[in-house]
Amino acid sequence: MADPAECTIKVMCRFRPLNSSEVTRGDKYIPKFQGEDSVVIGGKPYVFDRVFQSNTSQEQVYTACAQQIVKDVLGGYNGTIFAYGQTSSGKTHTMEVSYFEIYLDKIRDLLDVSKTNLSVHEDKNRVPYVKGCTERFVSSPEEVMDTIDEGKSNRHVAVTNMNEHSSRSHSIFLINVKQENTQTEQKLSGKLYLVDLAGSEKVSKTGAEGAVLDEAKNINKSLSSLGNVISALAEGSTYVPYRDSKMTRILQDSLGGNCRTTIVICCSPSSYNDAETKSTLMFGQRAK
Ligand code: ADP
Ligand code: MG
Repeated sequence: MADPAECTIKVMCRFRPLNSSEVTRGDKYIPKFQGEDSVVIGGKPYVFDRVFQSNTSQEQVYTACAQQIVKDVLGGYNGTIFAYGQTSSGKTHTMEVSYFEIYLDKIRDLLDVSKTNLSVHEDKNRVPYVKGCTERFVSSPEEVMDTIDEGKSNRHVAVTNMNEHSSRSHSIFLINVKQENTQTEQKLSGKLYLVDLAGSEKVSKTGAEGAVLDEAKNINKSLSSLGNVISALAEGSTYVPYRDSKMTRILQDSLGGNCRTTIVICCSPSSYNDAETKSTLMFGQRAK
């Protein structure tokens, strides 16, 4: 197990393969991989804890990104795994799970659709939590997967265009692990947040107005506050601006301190998405 006193932020980077429409359009495959931890785009190298080439399996990604965090959570630590990247870069594919979501800064319960605007409160230890959010007791991997499926189908029912919606909301899945040794009465609890972030692409200023512009501003704001929190943690700053967005407030006790954090930066390999890919890689570098 990692040293409990040490705050670990790992940044991994994953490139998906070119998809059929990119191939049909004749896009070039732009990343050049160097060793296990570096990728070159337009002559510039970007270095991460690990870089996964397009042919990396789900299992290899899980082993490198999640396995240690899952072990540490079972050992009583808190952790968060984020997927960051533009729409269609492979975030949801990487998380395998998609419950509550934050959309336009409103928190919606994905296990009880009647709860559409939950609020953030603090418990007696000043740890923030989502008040009234449905909690399910699960005791097997199957029950976890069933819960995820239920959340997913609720998410689908409530919106007309799922792809558009998922690119504009953050989905957050929390697994709370509580263990008690009946002989020693020793209690151990750990939390794991799985966060599938809204698409990081810039919405073009021209053409976006009204509700669409509000959405875009909101996403930019929450992703940039997340970036600020993570870079403050990476730099070891004494002030970490958790309170700047609902998401960072909720995740406060699972980010920083002796928590485990992994960010998986997801990228398209296509020349067509070159600018977005560079901006995604820059976001990842800020966390280092
Ligand atoms: P996002 O959640 O970032 O918008 P998705 O995870 O939905 O993107 O991925 C978009 C599409 O690309 C999906 O059809 C997905 O199955 C496919 N895809 C993403 N990453 C990979 C990968 N590493 N290998 C194969 N297919 C992938
Ligand atoms: Mg997605």
